[in-house]
Amino acid sequence: MRRDVRRRLEQYASNPRCEANVISAVHDVPMEAVARALGYSGAVGQSPFALLRGQQFERSLFRDDAVRLRRALITQKVLPANAAGFVDFRMSRNDGPYPNLDASRAAFLQRLAAFAKTVGDARLQLPTILAGPTLMVPGKAILPDGLFAIDVLTVHPQPRPAPIVLRVGEVKVYPDRGGFTDATELAATRAQAGLYVHALRVELQQSKLAQHFAVADDGFLVLTRPSFNLPSVRGAEDLQHQAERAAVMFDRVHRIAERLLPPDSAADDDIPAQRRQAVLDAPRQYADGCLSFCELAPHCQQTALAQGLPAALGDDLARFLGPITLHRALELLHGAAAEGDVEHDLLARIA
Ligand code: SF4
Repeated sequence: MRRDVRRRLEQYASNPRCEANVISAVHDVPMEAVARALGYSGAVGQSPFALLRGQQFERSLFRDDAVRLRRALITQKVLPANAAGFVDFRMSRNDGPYPNLDASRAAFLQRLAAFAKTVGDARLQLPTILAGPTLMVPGKAILPDGLFAIDVLTVHPQPRPAPIVLRVGEVKVYPDRGGFTDATELAATRAQAGLYVHALRVELQQSKLAQHFAVADDGFLVLTRPSFNLPSVRGAEDLQHQAERAAVMFDRVHRIAERLLPPDSAADDDIPAQRRQAVLDAPRQYADGCLSFCELAPHCQQTALAQGLPAALGDDLARFLGPITLHRALELLHGAAAEGDVEHDLLARIA
């Protein structure tokens, strides 16, 4: 297998409406190999420099018992002013104590089971920040071992018999510019965080801990301050819709996985042509966000343009024109008589 579970799930969540993208993610056919076979060479995603900066940022958040992150979470009222305690479930390659994802998950579940038994003051003084806990999603056959680590959880204890609330946080290195933060990046980050909300609920169910914990519908994003590697927290991010979408997505993973693709090859740089073709043959759904994560975006944009699909010129135009093609919109603008309600409605909105 070439890519880890988290990367593949995030690829899926970036454009779940595109079946080619879903097949690529679920069957682990890297989109870069598909694009390369068509003559597109530009890799998208983060540069090695950006990845390194992201790792350094994340490490700085959790250094010294996560003092920097805690301050930012308290300022944004994600945590109360007296919040304390930090437990590290990260792997050793990320400065944590665990050698692999299995060990991280075992430690995380063990700790949750201990949390569940606490009463009185001990319960109200539980550690409030958990770094890098590992979850397992069902479907081993599809997603190798099904294990992946999420960035961070906060713990919000309540006196018994109320459940302990867990809140999901997602860390990204792009700058938080308030109302001017990149909307596409924010949407992708929320989709990922919603995916982890759902995955955590599934994990609690399958580990028989669900009656002791509640996963909050809202979460928080940890971005950077413009020009600084300091955290800027966006709290109270409503993730309910994204979590529901993730539940549908997990069901679909199983259905897509049942589709038989030609077998994979052992070599990492040698994707069998039939597997690449299976991705190319699937219906695609181009959108603005494709440009930020998918190597096939230039090809899909050109194809969409040739077909007159408004999405080729942006999500806003796609929403405005609806099912009307670019060619037809131009005809209408040049005086062609409108046919049907949709075209009359478009002309009325233009007028
Ligand atoms: S660029 Fe193309 S293949 Fe990739 S997600 Fe977008 S529509 Fe799908």
